[in-house]
Amino acid sequence: MATKTIGHWIDGKPYERAAERHGDVYNPATGEVQAQVAFATPAVVDEAVESAAKASQTWRSVSIAKRTKVLFAFRQLVDKHQHDLARLLTLEHGKVTGDALGEVNRGLEVIEFACGIADLAKGEYSENVSTEVDSYSIRQPLGVVAGITPFNFPAMVPMWMYPLAIACGNTFILKPSERDPSCANFCAQLLADAGLPPGVFTVLHGDKVAVDRLLEHPKVAAISFVGSTPIAQYIYETGTRHGKRVQALGGAKNHMIVLPDADMELAADAAVSAAYGSAGERCMAISVVVAVGNAADRLVPLMKERIAKLKVGDGLEAGSEMGPLINKAHRDKVAGYVDQGVAEGATLVSDGRALAVSGRANGFFLGPCLFDHVTPNMAIYKDEIFGPVLGTTRVATYDEAIKLVNSNPYANGVAIFTNDGGAARKFQHEVEVGMVGINVPIPVPMAYYSFGGWKASLFGDHHIYGRDGVHFYTRTKAITSRWPDPRHRGVDLGFPQNR
Ligand code: NAD
Repeated sequence: MATKTIGHWIDGKPYERAAERHGDVYNPATGEVQAQVAFATPAVVDEAVESAAKASQTWRSVSIAKRTKVLFAFRQLVDKHQHDLARLLTLEHGKVTGDALGEVNRGLEVIEFACGIADLAKGEYSENVSTEVDSYSIRQPLGVVAGITPFNFPAMVPMWMYPLAIACGNTFILKPSERDPSCANFCAQLLADAGLPPGVFTVLHGDKVAVDRLLEHPKVAAISFVGSTPIAQYIYETGTRHGKRVQALGGAKNHMIVLPDADMELAADAAVSAAYGSAGERCMAISVVVAVGNAADRLVPLMKERIAKLKVGDGLEAGSEMGPLINKAHRDKVAGYVDQGVAEGATLVSDGRALAVSGRANGFFLGPCLFDHVTPNMAIYKDEIFGPVLGTTRVATYDEAIKLVNSNPYANGVAIFTNDGGAARKFQHEVEVGMVGINVPIPVPMAYYSFGGWKASLFGDHHIYGRDGVHFYTRTKAITSRWPDPRHRGVDLGFPQNR
């Protein structure tokens, strides 16, 4: 079957030269290969970096007003084309239409935030730090920066990066996931339509070969990465070894603590929504419910009831609530975890392994699975499964619950469900996790706060977007100035002092 080819976007236009290597892009709902994506060689990466470096020379001096104008226009275009973007997303990722639209809208928030760059990137000024000497600081762009992004949010996660990077005056090279590459090209076209000059935004498709060249390229000043923990650590170590500024966000194992006083109906709604939305392929998905005291006895049946009603199907079909997984290998790996959980002695309360979707026999579907009596030594507790598998771990006390959360190597998101304000406040103070929800299962911060986990969920000093994003994509220059005055003449070898 003839398939379309998805190529790079370099110098403000589709890159024409044929690629030497390709990867398959599937429609996860049908299991068919629907396109081939080009994989950049080091030579193509070099070409793209040269284009971005050249554009950087002018873009860094373009006025804030002109940069902002492009961002406002881009914001309008993304808003206008949100259904087109959502459709592309569903076709390659599999998530259902409503979820895909939600993703695009959370990305839009960051574009809107970046439209405020005039205020966000302001410097500081102190008059008369010494007699007739002024001191001030300005924030300047880094130059060429690159973003390497995961498959699970092909529109939103890149939008966590490039609107701010570009608003700050950098040029940006995006290396999206090779599994769902089309959103990147679609956004590149929208940015060009919004008036962004060639070379300011580049899309390089590919795999490790492209990433490795970006990591070592002397003209790439910084790397933003979002993906799994082992790769995040590799990116951080390799990028910083090559002298780059790096922020690398990794994987997760997000716990939801349910205290016995919680509203159990609300907690069951929240746990099921947060565990199975996007088929569990979210870094903020809840994968473990930690039920305190007798909470599990009431909560588990309520979750089971809700799971039985979930409609799994092709994401483009009206009524589907959960779509397929990204590819067959991942689907089988997740199903393998369910087998392992059973073998290790956990109780399988809901079993989605035999689910069949009518008319979609070759799709990468797996029904929602719920375990009870999961213990911390089991693989289903320890590993990030990244699929529709939720475990319930029973503990006797709040202290045991928080100990469990704080001893986990991952620390991306966490939630507590309770009606006790004091307990919630104690929890927010004690918990060692970057993003905390109180009766909110997926606490993804708004664009004007920053997003990031702790421990093995983030390598680097900066969280992503928000003010941390502005700091990451700029460097400070402090200037001390005195306008010549005859009274200050004369050689003085002493260290400058304030007088
Ligand atoms: P991944 O780590 O496999 O891939 C991420 C990116 O790295 C892709 O662009 C990929 O091409 C590239 N890559 C993969 N292997 C590489 C290698 N050996 N060398 C260099 N580059 C490589 O992640 P994924 O499977 O696409 O995404 C799922 C993971 O991302 C999950 O672990 C999830 O928790 C995590 N994630 C984290 C966040 C967060 O904010 N912390 C957000 C979304 C996803």
